[in-house]
Amino acid sequence: MKNRPYRIHKKHPPQKKGCDESIEETLKKLQKPGSKGSDYRERSLKIHGLICAKCGREFDEKTRNLLTVHHRDGNHLNNPPDGSNWENLCIYCHDDEHSRELLGNYLSDQKE
Ligand SMILES: [Zn+2]
Ligand SMILES: [Zn+2]
Repeated sequence: MKNRPYRIHKKHPPQKKGCDESIEETLKKLQKPGSKGSDYRERSLKIHGLICAKCGREFDEKTRNLLTVHHRDGNHLNNPPDGSNWENLCIYCHDDEHSRELLGNYLSDQKE
């Protein structure tokens, strides 16, 4: 009992491991639906600031809901982490930007 080596590499926490994994998976599943659309918005606001890229109007924490994220290439699935496809536009400029398109779906998706 006394010459027990210290460098035991125990490799059997079987029950615990299974437990951790299931929690992680649960968290992943929980995060997926939430990051659907609101995630890139927050990021874009952080990267580009609370200001409309078109009219220069500034916003703060209270009025930030008037600021929306425009996708330069029009592809809402194209969300590069550096924000190169995003443009922060106030809802008026954004509406203007999409005046030729159907913005209804996009705006209703932003409202929460
Ligand atoms: Zn604007
Ligand atoms: Zn847009």
